[in-house]
Amino acid sequence: MEVNCRGCAGCCIDWRGLLESEANDGSPDGPQADGTATNDGDSPSVRRQRGSLGTDEGSRRPPIDDVANFVPLTRDEVRAFLEAGYAAALTPRFWRARDDHEAVTVDGSDLAAVAGRPAFFVGLRKPPKPVAPFELDEPVWLPACVFLDPTTLQCRIHSDDLFPAECGSYPAHNLALEAETECERVEAAFGGERLLETDVDDDPADLLLGSQAVGEKLFCHPEPDRLEGVIDRLAAGEATAEDRATCLEVAAASSPGTLAISEHHRERARERALEAVADGEDGSWVGPAIRAWHRRRERADGVPSPAVAVELEEDRGAPGTPGWDALE
Ligand code: SF4
Repeated sequence: MEVNCRGCAGCCIDWRGLLESEANDGSPDGPQADGTATNDGDSPSVRRQRGSLGTDEGSRRPPIDDVANFVPLTRDEVRAFLEAGYAAALTPRFWRARDDHEAVTVDGSDLAAVAGRPAFFVGLRKPPKPVAPFELDEPVWLPACVFLDPTTLQCRIHSDDLFPAECGSYPAHNLALEAETECERVEAAFGGERLLETDVDDDPADLLLGSQAVGEKLFCHPEPDRLEGVIDRLAAGEATAEDRATCLEVAAASSPGTLAISEHHRERARERALEAVADGEDGSWVGPAIRAWHRRRERADGVPSPAVAVELEEDRGAPGTPGWDALE
């Protein structure tokens, strides 16, 4: 799939704040006066960016959280991230039910469910980072994938075994589903040519739909009572490590094509998801870097250079990225 990703990363960030700015001042690269790109409210163009890579479920069952371009991971990928000490990088996504017959109510929200079990994806968190995609003159704060290097707008795990299959196959899945791609949304909002090829296999082998996805990419929580409070905190963007672990353990213990849960894998996953927290420190750079980005954002002293990622991420152990010149 030939795409022009240099200076983009449109599918790795939630750039709706830039569209809000466009609506506010007529300029697509006009963030707020303090350098903040907001994402309050939902214009039609903003709503188009909501949802998950490779799917269009966002338009039919809205997610309970408010983050665009969620990257759904498979069960084996969830297990691999947990074993690598990257639990802090992961978060679940639940959806509001389309109608009563599929709903389970938790924290006052009617959640989409399968056989009475709230259904969810597991994907990658997006802390705020200073980024300047789409040839913006100045960086703005935008929610960006935990693994995105804000200086190069390249993926820190691109060459790693952990690189998610969904990221590797994007935007082919959207094209196979005849859904708009992020590349086209970026072209429409900021110009340029991003999607350089549109020929794809009509039925990619790894495109999991419907019941194929259950236990493999779409997980079903067997104990809705354990989600009390969790759903409210996820919706508010305030989920705790314990909240996330409650879902990660189910995802890692799921069985493709069934609702069965392996207790052995569930215990192991819970241990991996919580051991770093219990020790008082995270086993990898990811958790400390996410907290550092949030602290930096809350200081509200303007937008720093993306180069602060060297201090916040790489000095904590994050792998570097080669830059675009090195790839040409
Ligand atoms: S894992 Fe890499 S390619 Fe995928 S969304 Fe994150 S930064 Fe982008």
